[in-house]
Amino acid sequence: MKAITLLGATGSIGTSTLDVLSRHPEKFSLYAACAQRNVEKMLEIILKFKPKKVALSNEQAALVLKDKVLSLHLDVEILRGESGVIELAADPKADIVVGAIVGAAGLKPLLAAVKNGGTIALANKEALVMSGRLFFDEVRKYGARVLPVDSEHSAIFQSLPYAIQTNLGYCNLKEHKVDKILLTGSGGPFRNKKLEELCHVTAKQAVAHPVWSMGPKISVDSATMMNKGLEFIEARYLFNATDADIKVVIHPQSVIHSMVSYIDGAVMAQLGKPDMRTPIAVALGFPDRIHSGVGALDFASLGELTFKDPDYERYPCLKLAMQSSEKGQAATVALNAANEIAVAAFLEDRLRYLDISQVVSSVLDKTNICEYSSIDEILEADKVARELADSIIRSHE
Ligand code: NAD
Ligand code: MG
Repeated sequence: MKAITLLGATGSIGTSTLDVLSRHPEKFSLYAACAQRNVEKMLEIILKFKPKKVALSNEQAALVLKDKVLSLHLDVEILRGESGVIELAADPKADIVVGAIVGAAGLKPLLAAVKNGGTIALANKEALVMSGRLFFDEVRKYGARVLPVDSEHSAIFQSLPYAIQTNLGYCNLKEHKVDKILLTGSGGPFRNKKLEELCHVTAKQAVAHPVWSMGPKISVDSATMMNKGLEFIEARYLFNATDADIKVVIHPQSVIHSMVSYIDGAVMAQLGKPDMRTPIAVALGFPDRIHSGVGALDFASLGELTFKDPDYERYPCLKLAMQSSEKGQAATVALNAANEIAVAAFLEDRLRYLDISQVVSSVLDKTNICEYSSIDEILEADKVARELADSIIRSHE
């Protein structure tokens, strides 16, 4: 029986993870779970999965939840605030910690979890984009293991040999005769819109992804393809790859979740329905395969699978992310922070769609390019970039 700590339990990935866990009560138990503020959903999780510990980062919401569990005489410890989330993530009783908090908020809890030397099933790509090498230094120092949950990275992982799968962050692609990592992306809901129509798109349209159903932030990131840019950076760190090792391919049907080509011309791909329960099950079960609730692909009904190169005029955020990757840590931290602030403003109708890339680009222009040697430096740079993005957005209003 494996004990699972689920960070970000009430979100899209959190809900899919709970669905997979519920199919294997003999294999997994939910030991601990955290979220930001959704009391009702967390109470449902407590009633169904009976975790020992729960944390809400919003203090007020945690107090409300605490009252509810007391009145229902439920045997669960309630922690609160950011420190409560970190304490829960650091609990060494977990065998696997699933990192499904959205954005930079996930970084400190993940680093706390790494210190236990257990397995981290990682969905929270922003944490890796921010801390990259330092994150994997900690993984090595504490003997932890990282397994990808992001569907593209899970596909790449599944297309690589076992020696690489068990050494993420430090593997040697060339030694294993890998020629290229082919990172696929659907192109999002606006891939066929005329460029001049993009200035009018709304948050509601952006959140309605044609293939995947996801949380609001990553849905907007998919429309701008910043998501693919963050995944490009994520892939670099997970697979110890150079920028030249990775190529982005637009594949609107999202049937192939990514590929690896080898020096002999062979290409290995992972295919499946666009349902995050598959990559979650791969990470939870590894190296075994477990049921995920996702059915098999029906090839006859798939129709055409199409591919093309990305158009950077349509997707300036993708270009900015790839350029940041080349510039290094300071640029990727600023990119991620500026994007989080810009996307939040877009979701609140305070910023136009096309201005997301403008805000990110302006923040990057003002960022001092250097390397960071500690997480504190990263968090400070993240704060500075957020303030800068915020002031740029305010000057637009
Ligand atoms: P979501 O918005 O649906 O859920 C986010 C979760 O994080 C919620 O449970 C929320 O309560 C929690 N949270 C937010 N701030 C928190 C804080 N300060 N402390 C504790 N908990 C906090 O997002 P999602 O779509 O599930 O995405 C989660 C992560 O997984 C993101 O990093 C995203 O990029 C990545 N991801 C998601 C998908 C997908 O299909 N949804 C696919 C690949 C990767
Ligand atoms: Mg993905």
